[in-house]
Amino acid sequence: MAKKKNKKYIFVVGGVMSGVGKGITTSSIAKIVQSRGFSVTALKVDPYINVDAGTMNPTEHGEVFVLADGDETDQDMGNYERFLETTLPSANYMTTGRVYQSVIERERRGGYNGKCVEVVPHIPLEIISRIEKAARKEDAEVAITEIGGTIGEYQNILFLEAARMLKTKYPKDVLFVLVSYVPFPSKVGEMKTKPTQYASRTLNAAGIQADIVVARSEVPMDEKRKEKISWSCSVDKNSVISAPDVESIYHVPLNFEKDNLSNIVLKKLGLKARKRNLDDWKKFTKKVDNATKTVKIGIVGKYFETGDFVLSDAYISVIEALKHASYHHGYKPELAWLDSSVYEKDVSKLKDLKDYDGIVVPGGFGSRGIEGKINVAQYCRKNKIPYFGLCYGMQIAVIEFARHVAGIEDAHTAEIVENAKNLVIDILPEQKEKLKKKDFGGSMRLGSYPAQIKKGTIARAAYKKEEVSERHRHRYEVNPEYITQLEDAGIVFSGMSPDGVLMEIAELPKKVHPFYLATQFHPEFQSTPLIPHPLFMEFIKAAKK
Ligand code: GLN
Repeated sequence: MAKKKNKKYIFVVGGVMSGVGKGITTSSIAKIVQSRGFSVTALKVDPYINVDAGTMNPTEHGEVFVLADGDETDQDMGNYERFLETTLPSANYMTTGRVYQSVIERERRGGYNGKCVEVVPHIPLEIISRIEKAARKEDAEVAITEIGGTIGEYQNILFLEAARMLKTKYPKDVLFVLVSYVPFPSKVGEMKTKPTQYASRTLNAAGIQADIVVARSEVPMDEKRKEKISWSCSVDKNSVISAPDVESIYHVPLNFEKDNLSNIVLKKLGLKARKRNLDDWKKFTKKVDNATKTVKIGIVGKYFETGDFVLSDAYISVIEALKHASYHHGYKPELAWLDSSVYEKDVSKLKDLKDYDGIVVPGGFGSRGIEGKINVAQYCRKNKIPYFGLCYGMQIAVIEFARHVAGIEDAHTAEIVENAKNLVIDILPEQKEKLKKKDFGGSMRLGSYPAQIKKGTIARAAYKKEEVSERHRHRYEVNPEYITQLEDAGIVFSGMSPDGVLMEIAELPKKVHPFYLATQFHPEFQSTPLIPHPLFMEFIKAAKK
């Protein structure tokens, strides 16, 4: 019998500052190793105490990415899925809270046999066992783990400790990648490597030596700077990878390959390179490069502003899904962030929506800006502007339709006015109890559920099949008591749960509107560059008509 090969582990850590693209680096390394014929899985460890990302504010933490199994995770999990063209399980995501929770639970069950349970080694050991388990579960030859946060901060030290211990356990099978930032101050006129040097030293203080340095910068790095990083960080020069800003995140794997990164990684891990095939990926980036005509999409939401800055991270999967579909149709997407409260205060602003080829109202929670979104939905419906509602965006569309077409003037959602007379959107029965008990964490309707698609609808034309599976994250739902009344007024529920109780897609017939469609689920979570989501494809097609 052939000897079972050791699994290989890659850790990606970030130096200097956050937001330099650790997630994309991790996804890209995963992609290029996968393209050499290896089975690869990717994990994210988040330093937060929160057990999952579901309870974190998206303006601070970014999008909550929902896995097929319902786990509410970090947006980077979405990047891994999109780059690896795969579905990842909950085992691939952990937070400090989740790790401590299982150690404490095991201690209560007597699982440590009377031992004194300590932060070290028991927390790192739990982290290691989770990483190994995830690699086994996914049958991966290579497991790549991104450690959240920046080295030097207190929060991720136990994750670094776990990585260091794993390296001690398997010296030949563990690789460290430091993603650093190399600033180019315009007044100085040259790239400065000192922050990277400090980051590498800080990593050394945790007992870890980087094997590869990915140097993020605005422009490509010259040989001189590479040399400097090489000798000051004890990394061979070939392993200093220049990662300049690129046209799209999907170009990053190809850029890495220009520096031979997959060969370097495989060699350091003692893996024999198999085939090399990034052809499909290249084809897609060609589409990105060749797109000339633009499609202009407005995204109406409330999670854009943090202080003086506009942050689109809260809707990252929606943005990527729009990009995938646009590029496949040969268009360059031009996306605009539209603050919903604007359309609440000043309805004259609604006419600006005519500047867009299409409008998306993505997921959301709470009352801020909701009347603005309802006004937007009404304006799009009346002016035949393509409208794509996602989750809250569907509930908004249904409320709007109920109020202004079906004659239910005070139609509302229980999320905003709990005991309104006409709750066309009501709480799911099983959710009521949870809210009463203040059971907020991981308790929504989450993850993949099947839906039946009605013949002769826009949804059916897009999906081209009768049953689909899509990911959810919501507590409220179209109230079954109003369905007949709404349908009689002309709305079509083109997707339903198999038992016919839950309305999963609402649309207006093509003869009334070119594209007015909304989903109770989040199709954006399943769109990838190589397989764009059919509903996004249909939306972009309609937008350009
Ligand atoms: N707030 C709505 C609900 O809970 C919609 C959620 C969402 O858009 N993800 O049902």
